Amino acid sequence: MNTIVMKFGGTSVANIDRIKNVADIIKSKKKNSIKIVVVVSAMAGVTNDLCEKSKAISKNFSNEEYDVLLSSGEQVTSALLSGCLIDKGVKARSMLAWQIPIVTEGQHKNSRILSVNSKSIFKYLDEDYVVIVPGFQGISEQMKISTIGRGGSDASAVAVAKALNADRCEIFTDVEGIFTTNPQICNEAKKIEKISYDEILEMSSLGAKVMQSSSVQKAMMNNVEIFVKSTFSPEKSGTQILSDDKISYNKVITGVAYTNDDAKITLIGVKDKPGVASAIFKPLNDQNIIIDMIVQNISADSKKTDVTFTVKRDDMPKAKNIINELKKNIDYDDLLTDAKVSKVSIVGAGMITHPGVAYKMFDALSSKNINILVISTSEIRISVLVNDKNVELAVKTLHSVFELD
Ligand code: ADP
Ligand code: ASP
Ligand code: MG
Repeated sequence: MNTIVMKFGGTSVANIDRIKNVADIIKSKKKNSIKIVVVVSAMAGVTNDLCEKSKAISKNFSNEEYDVLLSSGEQVTSALLSGCLIDKGVKARSMLAWQIPIVTEGQHKNSRILSVNSKSIFKYLDEDYVVIVPGFQGISEQMKISTIGRGGSDASAVAVAKALNADRCEIFTDVEGIFTTNPQICNEAKKIEKISYDEILEMSSLGAKVMQSSSVQKAMMNNVEIFVKSTFSPEKSGTQILSDDKISYNKVITGVAYTNDDAKITLIGVKDKPGVASAIFKPLNDQNIIIDMIVQNISADSKKTDVTFTVKRDDMPKAKNIINELKKNIDYDDLLTDAKVSKVSIVGAGMITHPGVAYKMFDALSSKNINILVISTSEIRISVLVNDKNVELAVKTLHSVFELD
């Protein structure tokens, strides 16, 4: 093995002892004379704390300054870890995103990585340094500090791994790998040895925050080999993410994921005529509001219809205002909203070849008296929207019914 990228998340570097532990993991790996780049998150809680501070200063805190502020968390960890390695006799140096540079495009708070200059990193790797890179941050083509969205250090690690053509990218976190569902809410959750890019992409975009979804997308597109492991038991094998042709499926369902930040909006009695759906969704799209599930019920007389859709809970007030404004152009009887809904999903490439999965899911939920509000599907997943209070029971029930326990 030649070059590896090791990424450590917030809980892994939450305090001085944990940073020392991370330095020991790196030092023992370095003995094998491989080139190591480390990508770090801010210490647990720091990013949230900085975010709160910005809100305390202003309700309309500048997006540009938000990025300067929030990116500082990762800078602190980089320097502490690098200093710790030096103290332990390991040649190390931190390189901030602007020094490399890691160039981003797009809006502040939610930029995308365009390129990583591998030459500047290799310069130090070739001199046998361990290079520490702060995750989450970048620099725009206008030379402004940027950040790439919450949980973005995973994407930074994958982008660096891709740029260096690294042999592997190891994501160290606070659980032993990717589990069949969040082990924090389901004691029966089991660690998955191997999972496909498609499946973890679905699971992460459906709420499993163990990997940030855009990082999985980038890894899949560029064939970056990923291992998810625990910082607290690094000797254990963790989970390998790879393409589905390298996995044999003996279960229909691979995992259960859930969100806890959805909201449902229903327009009752909308006049049923061509162009109505686009008239509703265009202004929401113009304001960058992401629409997730959509259902339209056709009325018995075909004259009126109800349109239900979901948005992120934070976007609900904005979406409601836009729909209220629409009243001028679109005829509807009533507007109903519910901000206490969540999406529970089953994911598995095995369902492509197994009929009856949807029925089994709905039957299991009905046996527990859980009402399904909206349904959506893709080739390898089925999602249902349920009331917040039913999420945990729904996850545990599906986990057991699909024999993941
Ligand atoms: P980090 O700070 O290391 O990036 P995160 O908090 O972002 O870590 O992600 C790890 C967390 O993801 C775990 O503590 C766990 O609660 C949660 N999680 C949700 N779904 C899953 C899953 N299917 N497998 C493993 N962890 C999961
Ligand atoms: N520190 C950032 C966050 O909390 C990025 C990350 O940890 O991945 O969102
Ligand atoms: Mg994370």
